[in-house]
Amino acid sequence: METIKLLIIGSGPAGYTAGIYAGRAGLNPVILEGLQPGGQLTITTEVENFPGYPEGVDANEMMDDIRKQAERFGADIRSNIVTKADLDQRPYRFTLDDGSEVAAHSVIIATGASAKFLGLSDEEKYRGVGVSACATCDGFFYRKKVVAVVGGGDTACEEASYLSGLAEKVYLIVRKPFLRASKAMQDRVFENPKIEVLFETNTEGLYGEGGVEGAHLVHRRGEADERRYDLPIDGFFLAIGHKPNSDLFAKWLKLDENGYIMTEGATPRTGVEGVFAAGDVADPLYRQAITAAAAGCKAAIEAQRYIQENGF
Ligand code: NDP
Repeated sequence: METIKLLIIGSGPAGYTAGIYAGRAGLNPVILEGLQPGGQLTITTEVENFPGYPEGVDANEMMDDIRKQAERFGADIRSNIVTKADLDQRPYRFTLDDGSEVAAHSVIIATGASAKFLGLSDEEKYRGVGVSACATCDGFFYRKKVVAVVGGGDTACEEASYLSGLAEKVYLIVRKPFLRASKAMQDRVFENPKIEVLFETNTEGLYGEGGVEGAHLVHRRGEADERRYDLPIDGFFLAIGHKPNSDLFAKWLKLDENGYIMTEGATPRTGVEGVFAAGDVADPLYRQAITAAAAGCKAAIEAQRYIQENGF
């Protein structure tokens, strides 16, 4: 079995940035790209808020550049997925999707999070052309337009508030007769004249030629006074939660109630020595490319120190 110093699991900004730092530190890291090479950013279009690109940059191009930068310093990037982890053994053991095994003295978990979708086929159809799960990424493209946000939690309220600064009108589509968000968030939404909350409303589909032009909604589904109608909108934002991709490590690591890996203070240390977590899998709060990249940097510095101190 192959034994390596550092395994980086995941290929978003956290994983690749960890690869750059670890590569430059001479650790010959192996990066496993996983199911979505380049990470969540690759499902958006343009990135305008990553420093260094005054004119913005195509998200896929940017991730490709960061990937090349990691490769330049010796990161060994492989298109594998981890199917099983064993953090009881030292070095740590990982089984990959092709059946092979890797042993690693240190590991950086940068497996990210996946936005939840409603499961409508129209979400796939209009992904990137009217459907988004990230208001901070894509809101800018809806200036002076009409958008809808789905969800009734803190994220939905935050996204609706953010979008209200750009769009002309924001509908918040909430399936229950109340918001689950904190009182402060609710107040912000209710006091905002640009946001209209549609309670007890579900989305059944989207329509439009080449892009979203509206949503098929149903109010009080299944009740005697059920009402179906079409709501004209230009953008449809999902904010029904994210699922951190932490399941593989749940047996060994401390997770919060939503499955995010809990790290020690502002460090990427997980509490299991030599195992670090970086990026969205450990970040319920910010979930930005730049914060993930920073976390990847910190994790690589920690891994380098750990490997050096232990003489691996
Ligand atoms: P939550 O799980 O809190 O809320 C998800 C929302 O989406 C709920 O209103 C839920 O409805 C709704 N929803 C889920 N599935 C569907 C569906 N299939 N159809 C329609 N609606 C659906 O997720 P968040 O991402 O909002 O928040 C996650 C955590 O992060 C929370 O603990 C939150 O407090 C925290 N957070 C804190 C922030 C802050 O303090 N600034 C900002 C953002 C997040 P229902 O209520 O009916 O279940």
